[in-house]
Amino acid sequence: MTRLERFQKELTARTDAALITSPQNQFYLSGLHYDDGYLLILADAAYLLADFRYIEVARREADPAFTVVLVEKGMNKTVAELIGKHKAESLLVEEAHMTLAAEARLSAAVPRISVVRGATEILTEMRVLKDARELSAIAAAQELTDAAFSHILEYIRPDLREIDVALELEFFMRKNGAEGLAFDTIAVSGSASSMPHGVPRDRKLEKGFLTMDFGARLGGYCSDMTRTVVIGKADDEMKRLYETVLTAQKSALAAARGGVGCKALDAVARDIIHGAGYVGCFGHSLGHGVGIDIHEAPRLSSAAPQADLLRPGHVVTVEPGIYLEGKYGCRIEDMIAVLPDGSIRNFTQSPKELIEL
Ligand code: ZN
Ligand code: ZN
Repeated sequence: MTRLERFQKELTARTDAALITSPQNQFYLSGLHYDDGYLLILADAAYLLADFRYIEVARREADPAFTVVLVEKGMNKTVAELIGKHKAESLLVEEAHMTLAAEARLSAAVPRISVVRGATEILTEMRVLKDARELSAIAAAQELTDAAFSHILEYIRPDLREIDVALELEFFMRKNGAEGLAFDTIAVSGSASSMPHGVPRDRKLEKGFLTMDFGARLGGYCSDMTRTVVIGKADDEMKRLYETVLTAQKSALAAARGGVGCKALDAVARDIIHGAGYVGCFGHSLGHGVGIDIHEAPRLSSAAPQADLLRPGHVVTVEPGIYLEGKYGCRIEDMIAVLPDGSIRNFTQSPKELIEL
């Protein structure tokens, strides 16, 4: 069964039709990445609505199971016409994407339709399990990200600014094939490394830890990695902190496999960090799913329900960190997949022993 057929099966159990409005879910179902169209899906029909700007690429690249419709009189009018043609009475929408304003416009254009929430839930469930083609897209995105890390190790000099490091990572990834960035690049040094999601500054690299968290978007899929290096020499206290993060990360990776609880895996890393005395210094979750979006299900978190287990097809990050407020911090992040036999594939090949530059 194709993705579209699986979605149609889910939708017919709930409504007559579904309107897919987020670019991510439109890409997932139709293969076409664009910002301004809709998919209208019924039990026995699927339409891709595109205006003049996107009509050529839509006809060329969208899954042929979709009938491409040129929108000339407005998106909602076209939806209304097709809903009328198929005599649909209920419409499933993406509850996590459709704004109240968009829903009001839709209801005004299609007055008799009953709007039902639930498309996000169905598609989140579908997207959390990656197929072989998705895994190779993610692997390619991470390979490029690893190459960017090798490049930046050669490139870093003490007189650079944080923003130079971030831009060079971004430029390298774009120049070598990335369609875009998976998220805003983090490159924070010295005292700023204590902020897990600090913004690169227009300031010379401080001595001490330099944390770089970055990823590419390639083939529609994201990668995500973090490495922390040292500008200058690490003192004993820095080495101890780094080794604790590394041990926590390696232990979580070793414990990861199909059937392990998402909460239990978080605890593997968290217990090591707490056991070393860094209580209250690892204030984020161990990891998150990655795919078309940089943050997807599942979450590896102390707040995850007991019933949430790692399953074949999941792609998640493993990224413990220790942050000492006002002083410095360190994070190490790899991205892994759970394979059909329950074993783990680590996409991230970059070294993670302490590097002093
Ligand atoms: Zn990251
Ligand atoms: Zn991450």
